[in-house]
Amino acid sequence: MSVADATKGEAFDADVPLLIIGAGAAGLCAALAAKEEGVTPVVIERDAVPAGSTALSAGLIPAAGTRFQREKGIDDTPELFAADIQRKAHNEADPVEVETVAKGSGPLVEWLADRYGLPFDVVDNFNYPGHSALRMHGLPSRTGQELIDRLRSAAEASDIVILTGRVVERLAAAPDGRILGVEILCGDGARERIGCDAVILACNGYGGNPELVRRFIPEMADALYFGHPGNRGDAVKWGEALGAQLAHLGGYQGHGSVATPHNILISWAVIMQGGIQVNGEGRRFCDESRGYSEQAAEMLHQPGGIAWDVFDGRIADVARQFEDFRAAERAGAILSAESIAGLAAAMHVPAENFQAEWSEAETLKANGGTDRFGRKFSPAQRCAPPFHAVKVTGALFHTQGGLAIDASARVKRKDGTLFPNLFAAGGAAAGVSGESASGYLSGNGLLTATVLGRLAGRAAAKQLTV
Ligand SMILES: Cc1cc2nc3c(=O)[nH]c(=O)nc-3n(C[C@H](O)[C@H](O)[C@H](O)COP(=O)(O)OP(=O)(O)OC[C@H]3O[C@@H](n4cnc5c(N)ncnc54)[C@H](O)[C@@H]3O)c2cc1C
Repeated sequence: MSVADATKGEAFDADVPLLIIGAGAAGLCAALAAKEEGVTPVVIERDAVPAGSTALSAGLIPAAGTRFQREKGIDDTPELFAADIQRKAHNEADPVEVETVAKGSGPLVEWLADRYGLPFDVVDNFNYPGHSALRMHGLPSRTGQELIDRLRSAAEASDIVILTGRVVERLAAAPDGRILGVEILCGDGARERIGCDAVILACNGYGGNPELVRRFIPEMADALYFGHPGNRGDAVKWGEALGAQLAHLGGYQGHGSVATPHNILISWAVIMQGGIQVNGEGRRFCDESRGYSEQAAEMLHQPGGIAWDVFDGRIADVARQFEDFRAAERAGAILSAESIAGLAAAMHVPAENFQAEWSEAETLKANGGTDRFGRKFSPAQRCAPPFHAVKVTGALFHTQGGLAIDASARVKRKDGTLFPNLFAAGGAAAGVSGESASGYLSGNGLLTATVLGRLAGRAAAKQLTV
Protein backbone atom coordinates (compact mmCIF):
# COMPACT_ATOMS: atom_id res chain seq x y z
CA MET A 1 0.00 0.00 0.00
CA SER A 2 1.46 3.34 -0.91
CA VAL A 3 0.72 6.94 -1.65
CA ALA A 4 2.28 8.53 -4.71
CA ASP A 5 2.92 12.14 -5.51
CA ALA A 6 0.73 12.66 -8.57
CA THR A 7 1.95 16.07 -9.65
CA LYS A 8 3.95 14.55 -12.47
CA GLY A 9 0.81 14.23 -14.55
CA GLU A 10 -0.42 10.72 -13.78
CA ALA A 11 -2.94 9.54 -16.35
CA PHE A 12 -6.08 7.70 -15.30
CA ASP A 13 -8.03 5.11 -17.32
CA ALA A 14 -11.33 6.60 -16.19
CA ASP A 15 -12.65 9.39 -13.98
CA VAL A 16 -15.51 9.23 -11.48
CA PRO A 17 -16.78 11.87 -9.07
CA LEU A 18 -16.65 9.81 -5.88
CA LEU A 19 -14.72 6.67 -5.05
CA ILE A 20 -15.58 4.62 -1.99
CA ILE A 21 -13.02 2.03 -0.88
CA GLY A 22 -14.72 -0.92 0.84
CA ALA A 23 -18.26 -2.29 0.54
CA GLY A 24 -19.05 -3.05 4.18
CA ALA A 25 -21.70 -1.23 6.17
CA ALA A 26 -19.71 2.02 6.08
CA GLY A 27 -19.09 1.97 2.34
CA LEU A 28 -22.62 1.01 1.38
CA CYS A 29 -24.26 3.57 3.71
CA ALA A 30 -21.92 6.19 2.24
CA ALA A 31 -22.85 5.13 -1.29
CA LEU A 32 -26.59 5.29 -0.62
CA ALA A 33 -26.30 8.73 1.00
CA ALA A 34 -24.16 10.12 -1.83
CA LYS A 35 -26.58 8.84 -4.44
CA GLU A 36 -29.47 10.56 -2.66
CA GLU A 37 -27.53 13.84 -2.90
CA GLY A 38 -27.21 13.43 -6.66
CA VAL A 39 -23.72 11.93 -6.95
CA THR A 40 -23.34 8.40 -8.26
CA PRO A 41 -20.33 6.85 -6.51
CA VAL A 42 -18.23 3.88 -7.53
CA VAL A 43 -17.49 1.42 -4.73
CA ILE A 44 -14.33 -0.71 -4.94
CA GLU A 45 -14.36 -3.98 -2.99
CA ARG A 46 -11.63 -6.58 -2.53
CA ASP A 47 -14.02 -9.54 -2.27
CA ALA A 48 -16.11 -11.12 -5.01
CA VAL A 49 -19.25 -10.44 -2.96
CA PRO A 50 -19.41 -7.65 -0.37
CA ALA A 51 -19.25 -9.05 3.15
CA GLY A 52 -16.54 -7.53 5.35
CA SER A 53 -16.64 -7.74 9.10
CA THR A 54 -20.19 -6.46 8.76
CA ALA A 55 -21.29 -9.91 7.53
CA LEU A 56 -19.58 -11.59 10.49
CA SER A 57 -21.29 -9.37 13.04
CA ALA A 58 -24.60 -9.82 14.82
CA GLY A 59 -25.80 -6.81 12.82
CA LEU A 60 -26.96 -4.94 15.91
CA ILE A 61 -26.88 -1.14 15.62
CA PRO A 62 -27.35 0.93 18.79
CA ALA A 63 -29.62 3.91 18.22
CA ALA A 64 -31.31 6.37 20.58
CA GLY A 65 -34.76 7.93 20.39
CA THR A 66 -36.14 5.79 17.57
CA ARG A 67 -39.78 5.10 16.87
CA PHE A 68 -38.98 1.41 17.37
CA GLN A 69 -38.06 2.24 20.95
CA ARG A 70 -41.11 4.47 21.46
CA GLU A 71 -43.39 1.69 20.19
CA LYS A 72 -42.06 -0.48 23.02
CA GLY A 73 -42.25 2.29 25.62
CA ILE A 74 -38.46 2.65 25.87
CA ASP A 75 -37.31 6.13 26.94
CA ASP A 76 -33.99 7.12 25.42
CA THR A 77 -32.21 10.19 24.12
CA PRO A 78 -29.02 10.91 22.17
CA GLU A 79 -27.69 12.70 25.26
CA LEU A 80 -28.13 9.57 27.39
CA PHE A 81 -26.49 7.48 24.68
CA ALA A 82 -23.56 9.92 24.38
CA ALA A 83 -23.03 9.77 28.15
CA ASP A 84 -23.00 5.95 28.02
CA ILE A 85 -20.41 5.98 25.22
CA GLN A 86 -18.11 8.36 27.11
CA ARG A 87 -18.51 6.51 30.42
CA LYS A 88 -17.45 3.25 28.81
CA ALA A 89 -14.63 5.03 26.92
CA HIS A 90 -13.28 6.49 30.19
CA ASN A 91 -14.01 9.94 28.68
CA GLU A 92 -11.23 9.41 26.13
CA ALA A 93 -13.41 9.62 23.03
CA ASP A 94 -13.59 12.76 20.89
CA PRO A 95 -16.68 14.58 22.25
CA VAL A 96 -17.61 15.97 18.83
CA GLU A 97 -17.60 12.49 17.28
CA VAL A 98 -19.54 11.05 20.21
CA GLU A 99 -22.24 13.70 19.87
CA THR A 100 -22.30 13.24 16.10
CA VAL A 101 -22.85 9.48 16.20
CA ALA A 102 -25.26 9.55 19.15
CA LYS A 103 -27.43 12.19 17.43
CA GLY A 104 -27.18 10.51 14.06
CA SER A 105 -27.99 7.00 15.29
CA GLY A 106 -31.80 7.28 15.55
CA PRO A 107 -32.21 8.98 12.16
CA LEU A 108 -29.82 6.38 10.65
CA VAL A 109 -31.87 3.38 11.71
CA GLU A 110 -35.13 5.04 10.66
CA TRP A 111 -33.56 6.04 7.31
CA LEU A 112 -32.53 2.45 6.55
CA ALA A 113 -35.94 1.18 7.64
CA ASP A 114 -38.13 3.75 5.93
CA ARG A 115 -36.20 4.42 2.75
CA TYR A 116 -34.67 1.01 2.10
CA GLY A 117 -37.07 -1.32 3.89
CA LEU A 118 -34.68 -2.83 6.47
CA PRO A 119 -37.07 -4.39 9.04
CA PHE A 120 -35.40 -3.36 12.31
CA ASP A 121 -36.73 -3.94 15.77
CA VAL A 122 -35.26 -3.34 19.22
CA VAL A 123 -33.79 -6.25 21.15
CA ASP A 124 -35.89 -6.04 24.30
CA ASN A 125 -35.19 -9.27 26.19
CA PHE A 126 -31.70 -8.43 27.40
CA ASN A 127 -29.41 -5.46 27.56
CA TYR A 128 -25.71 -5.14 26.80
CA PRO A 129 -23.23 -3.89 29.42
CA GLY A 130 -22.97 -0.11 29.70
CA HIS A 131 -26.21 0.80 27.87
CA SER A 132 -28.67 2.55 30.17
CA ALA A 133 -31.57 1.95 27.74
CA LEU A 134 -32.56 -0.89 25.42
CA ARG A 135 -31.28 0.47 22.09
CA MET A 136 -29.82 -2.37 20.05
CA HIS A 137 -31.64 -2.49 16.71
CA GLY A 138 -31.42 -5.71 14.76
CA LEU A 139 -32.86 -7.47 11.72
CA PRO A 140 -34.99 -10.61 12.08
CA SER A 141 -32.10 -13.11 11.85
CA ARG A 142 -29.88 -11.00 14.15
CA THR A 143 -27.04 -11.48 11.67
CA GLY A 144 -24.69 -9.10 9.94
CA GLN A 145 -25.03 -11.28 6.84
CA GLU A 146 -28.64 -10.12 6.57
CA LEU A 147 -27.55 -6.52 7.14
CA ILE A 148 -24.91 -6.55 4.40
CA ASP A 149 -27.17 -8.43 1.97
CA ARG A 150 -29.95 -5.90 2.48
CA LEU A 151 -27.55 -2.95 2.10
CA ARG A 152 -26.10 -4.46 -1.08
CA SER A 153 -29.62 -4.99 -2.50
CA ALA A 154 -30.48 -1.37 -1.68
CA ALA A 155 -27.30 -0.20 -3.43
CA GLU A 156 -28.06 -2.32 -6.49
CA ALA A 157 -31.64 -1.03 -6.59
CA SER A 158 -30.19 2.50 -6.53
CA ASP A 159 -27.96 1.69 -9.54
CA ILE A 160 -24.76 2.06 -7.53
CA VAL A 161 -21.80 0.34 -9.16
CA ILE A 162 -19.80 -1.96 -6.88
CA LEU A 163 -16.60 -3.10 -8.58
CA THR A 164 -15.72 -6.33 -6.80
CA GLY A 165 -12.59 -8.50 -6.82
CA ARG A 166 -10.41 -5.38 -6.83
CA VAL A 167 -7.96 -4.14 -4.22
CA VAL A 168 -7.06 -0.47 -4.05
CA GLU A 169 -3.29 -0.51 -3.67
CA ARG A 170 -2.32 3.10 -3.98
CA LEU A 171 -3.70 6.60 -3.56
CA ALA A 172 -2.39 9.27 -5.92
CA ALA A 173 -2.15 12.54 -4.01
CA ALA A 174 -1.21 16.10 -4.88
CA PRO A 175 1.25 17.92 -2.56
CA ASP A 176 -1.64 19.58 -0.69
CA GLY A 177 -3.06 16.14 0.11
CA ARG A 178 -5.83 16.25 -2.49
CA ILE A 179 -6.54 12.71 -3.66
CA LEU A 180 -6.53 12.62 -7.45
CA GLY A 181 -7.20 8.94 -8.00
CA VAL A 182 -6.34 5.39 -7.06
CA GLU A 183 -4.50 2.42 -8.49
CA ILE A 184 -6.34 -0.86 -8.34
CA LEU A 185 -5.11 -4.45 -8.58
CA CYS A 186 -7.76 -6.60 -10.29
CA GLY A 187 -8.34 -10.29 -9.66
CA ASP A 188 -6.77 -11.22 -13.01
CA GLY A 189 -3.59 -9.30 -12.17
CA ALA A 190 -4.43 -6.33 -14.36
CA ARG A 191 -4.08 -2.81 -13.00
CA GLU A 192 -6.57 0.03 -13.34
CA ARG A 193 -6.11 3.69 -12.54
CA ILE A 194 -9.25 5.62 -11.72
CA GLY A 195 -9.29 9.36 -11.17
CA CYS A 196 -11.80 10.95 -8.79
CA ASP A 197 -12.91 14.19 -7.16
CA ALA A 198 -13.29 12.75 -3.67
CA VAL A 199 -12.53 9.52 -1.78
CA ILE A 200 -14.21 7.86 1.18
CA LEU A 201 -12.08 5.31 3.05
CA ALA A 202 -14.44 2.58 4.24
CA CYS A 203 -11.90 -0.24 4.32
CA ASN A 204 -12.08 -0.86 8.10
CA GLY A 205 -9.09 -1.18 10.42
CA TYR A 206 -5.98 -3.34 10.72
CA GLY A 207 -7.25 -6.44 12.55
CA GLY A 208 -6.24 -8.56 9.53
CA ASN A 209 -2.66 -7.26 9.59
CA PRO A 210 -0.64 -9.16 12.24
CA GLU A 211 2.27 -6.73 11.99
CA LEU A 212 0.08 -3.71 12.80
CA VAL A 213 -1.77 -5.62 15.55
CA ARG A 214 1.59 -6.45 17.16
CA ARG A 215 2.66 -2.83 16.84
CA PHE A 216 -0.46 -1.18 18.25
CA ILE A 217 -2.18 -3.88 20.36
CA PRO A 218 0.57 -6.22 21.58
CA GLU A 219 -1.79 -7.83 24.12
CA MET A 220 -3.77 -9.34 21.24
CA ALA A 221 -0.82 -10.20 18.99
CA ASP A 222 -1.31 -13.94 19.47
CA ALA A 223 -5.08 -13.94 19.81
CA LEU A 224 -7.55 -15.41 17.36
CA TYR A 225 -8.61 -12.73 14.85
CA PHE A 226 -12.32 -13.14 14.27
CA GLY A 227 -12.93 -10.29 11.84
CA HIS A 228 -12.61 -10.06 8.07
CA PRO A 229 -9.12 -11.04 6.86
CA GLY A 230 -9.19 -8.44 4.06
CA ASN A 231 -9.07 -5.56 6.57
CA ARG A 232 -5.33 -5.07 6.42
CA GLY A 233 -4.94 -1.56 7.77
CA ASP A 234 -4.74 0.24 4.42
CA ALA A 235 -6.45 3.37 5.79
CA VAL A 236 -3.93 3.62 8.63
CA LYS A 237 -1.00 3.09 6.24
CA TRP A 238 -2.27 5.66 3.76
CA GLY A 239 -2.98 8.03 6.63
CA GLU A 240 0.56 7.69 7.94
CA ALA A 241 2.00 8.32 4.47
CA LEU A 242 -0.23 11.37 3.89
CA GLY A 243 0.49 12.95 7.29
CA ALA A 244 -3.02 12.39 8.64
CA GLN A 245 -3.85 12.52 12.32
CA LEU A 246 -4.26 9.02 13.73
CA ALA A 247 -6.07 8.45 17.00
CA HIS A 248 -6.75 5.74 19.58
CA LEU A 249 -4.70 3.09 17.80
CA GLY A 250 -4.72 0.95 20.94
CA GLY A 251 -8.54 0.77 20.96
CA TYR A 252 -10.26 -2.39 19.80
CA GLN A 253 -13.28 -4.64 20.14
CA GLY A 254 -12.33 -7.91 21.72
CA HIS A 255 -14.75 -10.63 22.67
CA GLY A 256 -14.52 -13.11 25.50
CA SER A 257 -17.08 -15.59 24.27
CA VAL A 258 -16.12 -17.37 21.07
CA ALA A 259 -16.91 -21.09 21.19
CA THR A 260 -13.75 -23.11 20.73
CA PRO A 261 -12.74 -25.08 18.74
CA HIS A 262 -15.92 -24.33 16.76
CA ASN A 263 -15.18 -20.60 16.30
CA ILE A 264 -18.78 -19.48 16.74
CA LEU A 265 -19.78 -16.31 18.59
CA ILE A 266 -21.79 -17.02 21.74
CA SER A 267 -23.90 -13.96 22.55
CA TRP A 268 -23.02 -12.09 25.72
CA ALA A 269 -26.72 -12.42 26.54
CA VAL A 270 -25.76 -15.68 28.26
CA ILE A 271 -23.76 -13.65 30.79
CA MET A 272 -26.03 -10.63 31.14
CA GLN A 273 -29.02 -12.85 31.82
CA GLY A 274 -27.22 -14.47 34.78
CA GLY A 275 -24.60 -16.84 33.40
CA ILE A 276 -21.05 -16.88 34.73
CA GLN A 277 -17.63 -17.80 33.38
CA VAL A 278 -15.30 -20.28 35.05
CA ASN A 279 -11.81 -21.24 33.93
CA GLY A 280 -10.49 -24.75 33.37
CA GLU A 281 -10.02 -25.08 37.12
CA GLY A 282 -13.71 -24.42 37.68
CA ARG A 283 -13.06 -20.99 39.19
CA ARG A 284 -14.46 -17.58 38.34
CA PHE A 285 -11.82 -14.96 37.61
CA CYS A 286 -13.47 -11.51 37.19
CA ASP A 287 -16.63 -9.43 36.93
CA GLU A 288 -17.96 -10.66 33.59
CA SER A 289 -20.66 -7.98 33.47
CA ARG A 290 -18.15 -5.14 32.77
CA GLY A 291 -18.24 -6.05 29.09
CA TYR A 292 -17.23 -8.68 26.58
CA SER A 293 -14.52 -6.59 24.92
CA GLU A 294 -12.09 -6.40 27.85
CA GLN A 295 -12.91 -10.04 28.61
CA ALA A 296 -10.89 -11.22 25.59
CA ALA A 297 -7.50 -10.30 27.05
CA GLU A 298 -8.67 -11.42 30.51
CA MET A 299 -9.47 -14.85 29.17
CA LEU A 300 -6.12 -15.21 27.44
CA HIS A 301 -4.52 -15.02 30.90
CA GLN A 302 -6.46 -18.09 32.07
CA PRO A 303 -4.94 -21.58 31.87
CA GLY A 304 -5.00 -22.69 28.25
CA GLY A 305 -6.49 -19.32 27.25
CA ILE A 306 -10.01 -20.69 27.62
CA ALA A 307 -12.99 -20.49 29.94
CA TRP A 308 -16.55 -21.84 30.09
CA ASP A 309 -19.79 -19.85 29.77
CA VAL A 310 -22.27 -21.50 32.14
CA PHE A 311 -26.00 -20.76 32.04
CA ASP A 312 -29.40 -22.46 32.07
CA GLY A 313 -32.33 -23.32 29.82
CA ARG A 314 -34.10 -19.96 30.30
CA ILE A 315 -30.96 -18.14 29.17
CA ALA A 316 -30.46 -20.51 26.24
CA ASP A 317 -33.97 -19.54 25.06
CA VAL A 318 -32.94 -15.87 24.99
CA ALA A 319 -29.68 -16.66 23.17
CA ARG A 320 -31.52 -18.75 20.57
CA GLN A 321 -32.72 -15.55 18.84
CA PHE A 322 -29.17 -15.44 17.42
CA GLU A 323 -28.45 -17.65 14.46
CA ASP A 324 -24.90 -18.06 15.80
CA PHE A 325 -26.17 -19.65 18.99
CA ARG A 326 -28.37 -22.02 17.04
CA ALA A 327 -25.35 -22.91 14.90
CA ALA A 328 -23.33 -23.60 18.05
CA GLU A 329 -26.06 -25.95 19.23
CA ARG A 330 -26.09 -27.74 15.89
CA ALA A 331 -22.29 -28.04 16.03
CA GLY A 332 -22.49 -29.72 19.45
CA ALA A 333 -20.65 -26.89 21.21
CA ILE A 334 -23.24 -26.56 23.99
CA LEU A 335 -22.98 -29.16 26.75
CA SER A 336 -26.05 -29.91 28.88
CA ALA A 337 -26.74 -31.63 32.20
CA GLU A 338 -29.45 -31.74 34.83
CA SER A 339 -27.02 -30.98 37.65
CA ILE A 340 -23.88 -28.89 38.19
CA ALA A 341 -22.00 -32.06 39.10
CA GLY A 342 -23.05 -33.63 35.82
CA LEU A 343 -22.01 -30.51 33.91
CA ALA A 344 -18.63 -30.45 35.70
CA ALA A 345 -18.03 -34.02 34.54
CA ALA A 346 -18.90 -33.14 30.95
CA MET A 347 -16.62 -30.07 31.08
CA HIS A 348 -13.78 -31.98 32.75
CA VAL A 349 -13.34 -29.27 35.40
CA PRO A 350 -12.87 -29.93 39.14
CA ALA A 351 -16.45 -30.41 40.42
CA GLU A 352 -15.74 -29.08 43.91
CA ASN A 353 -14.43 -25.70 42.74
CA PHE A 354 -17.14 -25.29 40.15
CA GLN A 355 -19.96 -26.28 42.52
CA ALA A 356 -18.69 -23.79 45.13
CA GLU A 357 -18.57 -20.93 42.56
CA TRP A 358 -21.99 -21.79 41.19
CA SER A 359 -23.61 -22.01 44.64
CA GLU A 360 -22.08 -18.70 45.68
CA ALA A 361 -23.37 -16.96 42.56
CA GLU A 362 -26.87 -18.42 43.03
CA THR A 363 -26.96 -17.29 46.68
CA LEU A 364 -25.87 -13.79 45.64
CA LYS A 365 -28.58 -13.73 42.97
CA ALA A 366 -31.26 -14.71 45.49
CA ASN A 367 -30.17 -11.86 47.80
CA GLY A 368 -29.36 -9.31 45.10
CA GLY A 369 -25.76 -9.34 46.33
CA THR A 370 -22.39 -8.26 44.94
CA ASP A 371 -19.52 -10.73 44.53
CA ARG A 372 -15.82 -10.41 45.36
CA PHE A 373 -15.11 -8.95 41.88
CA GLY A 374 -17.79 -6.28 42.17
CA ARG A 375 -20.41 -7.96 39.97
CA LYS A 376 -23.95 -7.22 41.13
CA PHE A 377 -26.48 -10.01 40.78
CA SER A 378 -30.29 -9.90 40.90
CA PRO A 379 -33.04 -12.43 41.70
CA ALA A 380 -34.21 -12.39 38.06
CA GLN A 381 -30.88 -13.97 37.10
CA ARG A 382 -31.39 -17.18 39.11
CA CYS A 383 -30.84 -20.37 37.17
CA ALA A 384 -32.53 -23.77 37.22
CA PRO A 385 -31.92 -27.11 35.46
CA PRO A 386 -31.17 -27.95 32.74
CA PHE A 387 -27.74 -26.34 32.87
CA HIS A 388 -25.52 -25.60 29.89
CA ALA A 389 -21.85 -24.87 29.30
CA VAL A 390 -19.79 -23.92 26.27
CA LYS A 391 -16.01 -23.72 26.08
CA VAL A 392 -14.95 -20.27 24.86
CA THR A 393 -11.84 -18.26 24.12
CA GLY A 394 -10.99 -14.59 23.65
CA ALA A 395 -10.67 -13.05 20.19
CA LEU A 396 -9.91 -9.78 18.45
CA PHE A 397 -13.01 -8.68 16.52
CA HIS A 398 -11.95 -5.38 15.05
CA THR A 399 -9.70 -2.41 15.72
CA GLN A 400 -11.13 0.93 16.80
CA GLY A 401 -8.21 3.26 16.11
CA GLY A 402 -7.87 5.07 12.81
CA LEU A 403 -7.98 8.41 11.04
CA ALA A 404 -9.13 11.38 13.08
CA ILE A 405 -12.17 13.03 11.48
CA ASP A 406 -14.44 16.04 11.95
CA ALA A 407 -18.24 16.03 12.33
CA SER A 408 -18.66 15.47 8.57
CA ALA A 409 -16.24 12.52 8.55
CA ARG A 410 -13.52 14.57 6.83
CA VAL A 411 -10.02 13.36 7.57
CA LYS A 412 -7.80 15.67 9.63
CA ARG A 413 -4.16 16.42 9.06
CA LYS A 414 -1.74 16.20 11.97
CA ASP A 415 -2.17 19.93 12.59
CA GLY A 416 -5.96 19.57 12.77
CA THR A 417 -6.69 21.13 9.36
CA LEU A 418 -8.73 19.08 6.90
CA PHE A 419 -7.69 17.24 3.76
CA PRO A 420 -9.52 18.78 0.79
CA ASN A 421 -11.38 15.68 -0.45
CA LEU A 422 -10.70 12.75 1.87
CA PHE A 423 -13.31 11.19 4.16
CA ALA A 424 -13.27 8.15 6.46
CA ALA A 425 -15.98 6.09 8.14
CA GLY A 426 -16.38 2.87 10.09
CA GLY A 427 -13.23 1.06 11.13
CA ALA A 428 -11.08 3.26 8.88
CA ALA A 429 -11.84 6.24 11.13
CA ALA A 430 -10.87 6.60 14.78
CA GLY A 431 -13.79 5.28 16.79
CA VAL A 432 -15.46 6.39 20.01
CA SER A 433 -13.96 3.77 22.31
CA GLY A 434 -10.83 5.54 23.55
CA GLU A 435 -7.49 3.87 23.97
CA SER A 436 -8.31 0.35 25.11
CA ALA A 437 -10.58 -2.66 24.73
CA SER A 438 -12.43 -1.73 27.91
CA GLY A 439 -13.62 1.49 26.26
CA TYR A 440 -15.69 -0.39 23.68
CA LEU A 441 -19.42 -0.05 24.27
CA SER A 442 -21.41 -2.76 22.48
CA GLY A 443 -22.39 -1.58 19.06
CA ASN A 444 -19.68 1.08 18.67
CA GLY A 445 -18.51 -0.76 15.53
CA LEU A 446 -21.64 -0.62 13.42
CA LEU A 447 -22.59 2.72 14.99
CA THR A 448 -19.55 4.45 13.51
CA ALA A 449 -19.76 2.41 10.30
CA THR A 450 -23.35 3.28 9.50
CA VAL A 451 -23.73 6.78 10.93
CA LEU A 452 -20.32 8.06 9.76
CA GLY A 453 -20.76 6.25 6.45
CA ARG A 454 -23.99 8.10 5.84
CA LEU A 455 -22.45 11.44 6.90
CA ALA A 456 -19.36 10.92 4.75
CA GLY A 457 -21.44 10.06 1.69
CA ARG A 458 -23.65 13.06 2.16
CA ALA A 459 -20.80 15.50 2.86
CA ALA A 460 -18.67 14.28 -0.04
CA ALA A 461 -21.59 14.55 -2.44
CA LYS A 462 -22.54 18.02 -1.22
CA GLN A 463 -18.96 19.17 -1.73
CA LEU A 464 -19.06 17.88 -5.30
CA THR A 465 -22.40 19.45 -6.18
CA VAL A 466 -21.87 23.04 -4.92
C1 LIG B 1 -17.93 -11.56 14.97
C2 LIG B 1 -18.19 -10.09 15.01
C3 LIG B 1 -19.38 -9.63 15.59
C4 LIG B 1 -19.65 -8.27 15.63
N1 LIG B 1 -20.88 -7.84 16.09
C5 LIG B 1 -21.17 -6.51 16.06
C6 LIG B 1 -22.48 -6.02 16.40
O1 LIG B 1 -23.44 -6.77 16.62
N2 LIG B 1 -22.67 -4.68 16.45
C7 LIG B 1 -21.67 -3.81 16.12
O2 LIG B 1 -21.88 -2.61 16.19
N3 LIG B 1 -20.47 -4.23 15.68
C8 LIG B 1 -20.19 -5.55 15.64
N4 LIG B 1 -18.97 -5.98 15.18
C9 LIG B 1 -18.06 -4.98 14.59
C10 LIG B 1 -18.56 -4.60 13.19
O3 LIG B 1 -18.72 -5.78 12.43
C11 LIG B 1 -17.59 -3.66 12.48
O4 LIG B 1 -17.25 -2.59 13.33
C12 LIG B 1 -18.23 -3.08 11.21
O5 LIG B 1 -18.76 -4.13 10.42
C13 LIG B 1 -17.23 -2.28 10.42
O6 LIG B 1 -17.82 -1.93 9.19
P1 LIG B 1 -16.90 -1.35 8.03
O7 LIG B 1 -17.80 -1.05 6.89
O8 LIG B 1 -16.03 -0.29 8.57
O9 LIG B 1 -15.93 -2.57 7.69
P2 LIG B 1 -16.20 -3.98 6.91
O10 LIG B 1 -17.60 -4.44 7.05
O11 LIG B 1 -15.13 -4.90 7.37
O12 LIG B 1 -15.97 -3.58 5.41
C14 LIG B 1 -14.68 -3.19 4.93
C15 LIG B 1 -14.54 -3.70 3.52
O13 LIG B 1 -13.41 -3.10 2.92
C16 LIG B 1 -12.80 -4.06 2.05
N5 LIG B 1 -11.41 -3.62 1.84
C17 LIG B 1 -10.42 -3.49 2.76
N6 LIG B 1 -9.32 -3.00 2.19
C18 LIG B 1 -9.59 -2.82 0.88
C19 LIG B 1 -8.83 -2.32 -0.24
N7 LIG B 1 -7.57 -1.89 -0.12
N8 LIG B 1 -9.43 -2.29 -1.45
C20 LIG B 1 -10.72 -2.74 -1.61
N9 LIG B 1 -11.48 -3.19 -0.58
C21 LIG B 1 -10.92 -3.22 0.65
C22 LIG B 1 -12.93 -5.37 2.80
O14 LIG B 1 -12.85 -6.46 1.92
C23 LIG B 1 -14.32 -5.21 3.44
O15 LIG B 1 -15.34 -5.79 2.65
C24 LIG B 1 -18.68 -7.34 15.12
C25 LIG B 1 -17.49 -7.80 14.55
C26 LIG B 1 -17.24 -9.17 14.48
C27 LIG B 1 -15.97 -9.64 13.84
